[in-house]
Amino acid sequence: MQAVVFLGERQLELKKFPDPTPDTGEVVLEIKASGMCGTDLHRYRGPKLDEHLIAGHEPCGVVLAVGAGVPPSQASVGDRVMVHHYDGCGACKHCVEGWTQMCDDGSTIYGGKNGHGAHAPYMKVPAHTLVKLPEELTFKAGAAISCGTGTAFGAIKQLELAGDETLAVFGQGPVGLSATLLAKEMGARVIAVDPQSDRRAMATSFGADYTIDPTDVDAAELIRELTAGLGAHKSMECSSNAMARAQSVDCLRKWGTACMVGVTGDITVPITNLIHKQARILGSWTFSKTGQAECARFILERGIDINPLFSHEFVLDDAISAYKLFDAQKMGKGVFLL
Ligand SMILES: [Zn+2]
Ligand SMILES: [Zn+2]
Repeated sequence: MQAVVFLGERQLELKKFPDPTPDTGEVVLEIKASGMCGTDLHRYRGPKLDEHLIAGHEPCGVVLAVGAGVPPSQASVGDRVMVHHYDGCGACKHCVEGWTQMCDDGSTIYGGKNGHGAHAPYMKVPAHTLVKLPEELTFKAGAAISCGTGTAFGAIKQLELAGDETLAVFGQGPVGLSATLLAKEMGARVIAVDPQSDRRAMATSFGADYTIDPTDVDAAELIRELTAGLGAHKSMECSSNAMARAQSVDCLRKWGTACMVGVTGDITVPITNLIHKQARILGSWTFSKTGQAECARFILERGIDINPLFSHEFVLDDAISAYKLFDAQKMGKGVFLL
């Protein structure tokens, strides 16, 4: 099979790999949709990569072959599935709780630093990483839930967002837009912040009560104005932008909580902004395996259409131009359909 490999330094190639076959405890998936995520850009733009791994960590497809020792309840040929794209030792506290990405023994990240991913016709994973995709959801939706949208859901859960609260979401890329959409569905009031007008327009179409261009006004100041001078109950930072990160704390009301989701850079905030407000800052890294299943159920039960998150669809042969476009930030979220 031909699969997409990041070489680093903004280079990628379609490389030939043998079609995978499942060993004991494993399955091979026929990939139907493989999403492009912001994290992929870090590897794409990063230093030269010597190990040639298949990219793509938002896998969604159908079980094609099942190895020995896999019970039918875990995987059967034809099952529609997503992958919780991590594996760990299986025995430590974090693995047992479904947070294999936090394994004490170090984790495998499929389509990341040390495991083959889903920008390929086939993908081999341990059967226990599979999360069933409900019939009613598209493969595209499953791909989004497998990282970007699931990450937004996980952060909202960590924030313990309530329906009577105001959430400020900084950055309206695929994760921030998902947060806007999901938080609205949970009943919260959402203020969406992004310098790009097309992203603000998307946020409005996804239900944002108010959008702010942070290059135009002081976003934190305006958020206070929109909340009777109090500030937002909760905020989420999805842009990795230093100013947005500081404002996501500055915009909080007393006892408020800011959740950091954007993964690069540092955080610098005036300490009085934290102490005298009794504010909290927390970090949120993706979601557990059960969290991924809960996100899919929520989207299904609320009838939420997340397909509009994707602005571009590609075939694997388009991978070079697809990542060029993504790198130039000339698109929203892309997905390879197979
Ligand atoms: Zn472990
Ligand atoms: Zn991701």
